[in-house]
Amino acid sequence: MHTHDTIAAIASPVGTGGIGIVRVSGPAAKHILARIFRPRSPRFAGFKPWTLHRGRVLDVHGNVLDDALVVFMPGPCSFTGEDVAEIHCHGGMALLALLLENILAPGTRLAEAGEFSRRAFLNGRMDLTQAEAVAELISAPGKEGVLLSAAKLDGLLGRRVNALREKLEEARMRVCVAVDFPEEEAECLSRFDFLQAVEDISQVVRELLAGHKRNRYWQEGALVVLAGRVNVGKSSLMNALLGRERALVTGQAGTTRDFLEERVLLDGLPARLVDTAGLRESADEVERLGIAASRRCVDEADLILLVLDGQEGYTREDQALLEAFPMDRVLLVWNKSDLARPDAASLPCVAGQRGMVYVSARTGEGVDDLAAEVRRKVLRQSGGDGNMRADGLSPNLRQASALSRALDELAVCARDVQSGLPYDICALHLDMAGESLAELTGRDGSDALLNRIFSTFCIGK
Ligand code: GDP
Repeated sequence: MHTHDTIAAIASPVGTGGIGIVRVSGPAAKHILARIFRPRSPRFAGFKPWTLHRGRVLDVHGNVLDDALVVFMPGPCSFTGEDVAEIHCHGGMALLALLLENILAPGTRLAEAGEFSRRAFLNGRMDLTQAEAVAELISAPGKEGVLLSAAKLDGLLGRRVNALREKLEEARMRVCVAVDFPEEEAECLSRFDFLQAVEDISQVVRELLAGHKRNRYWQEGALVVLAGRVNVGKSSLMNALLGRERALVTGQAGTTRDFLEERVLLDGLPARLVDTAGLRESADEVERLGIAASRRCVDEADLILLVLDGQEGYTREDQALLEAFPMDRVLLVWNKSDLARPDAASLPCVAGQRGMVYVSARTGEGVDDLAAEVRRKVLRQSGGDGNMRADGLSPNLRQASALSRALDELAVCARDVQSGLPYDICALHLDMAGESLAELTGRDGSDALLNRIFSTFCIGK
């Protein structure tokens, strides 16, 4: 990474809008402003930091491109930690592209995806959890997601993890003393205290992981899968839940060849709604592939809506499907309630106990109730009270998997301590737990880790 060069990008979204922003970061930021900007005010006396100046922006030939507002934010207290300039002009794509072209003189290049954030991270302006919180805020699917990620912006999660790493380090040092200077008894960690230290750290990690489980639906969305026999109305129900025509609906069996996935709010709960191909055996290769993908979806689903045809009633095929699904993650949905509404008694006992919902994908009757029931069932599984808690400590999927790995290492460490293995062997797992924790904040992060994270950010972020 060359932090001596200056980067620039259009920071506002692709498309036309009232305002568009070009962002510049690096040592040439102020020089670029001076080159392209002509102030309106005769009293202009240079770029006062953090102050909007109004004037014209010009191209290299002196043609006026727009009437704009510009701001200069000097490092090291800017977003990236470097000199930053922003040009707020009108939001036309050709205009913004022209402006950018004029800025990209020698020494200034187009920013890569996430490069502004990466520089902020490398210059110590934020840790990885904060950089990711910005990205999460931008992609938050609903109000709760916004509040959750906004609470993470100030880096409490990173500080909590750093405190854990310090505790690990302290235990590690006292273990070293026991290995290297066993005669210094007072400084050595007894097996009991060693175990206690590991358990204390594990407990905090478990609490952080519970925060992920409790809040993940608000950020990532729940995976809700529509499953059922052919022609029971899965595609129609998908459309009804989405409120528009997306899936192809036909009266012929087996027409949904692959699965369709859409993001939707179900009674306010962000969800990835998937319509599976009919889960049936098929000789047709394309359909078979679709079916394999459906099975994978069903395995990963937070909730499976087993759609039944109210007019046809409960069939042996429905029963076979029900038996193939995990008990606690199925909701029975009687569709075509405009034609018939079978009562619970028509279901075999095991099916009837799960609770059911009546809908008509055709008339829309019961669709809101179905969405509310999905929200209730999904949140009940999250281990909390179903309420979002924006405490700044809800790890995302990547962070949770690093925490899980740390917890596994701590468990192995505790087992080794208990079974009387030498301290230097036990301590290896402390180190590995520490490395996993370090991945959260990225302080000692490898280039590969940083590339993986920042490349998923948008250009201009
Ligand atoms: P899929 O194979 O399960 O995806 O089923 P489709 O959504 O393609 O629907 C199969 C047939 O059932 C189509 O002719 C739909 O118009 C019809 N259908 C779906 N939902 C309803 C409903 O709620 N009421 C009625 N009367 N017909 C429905």
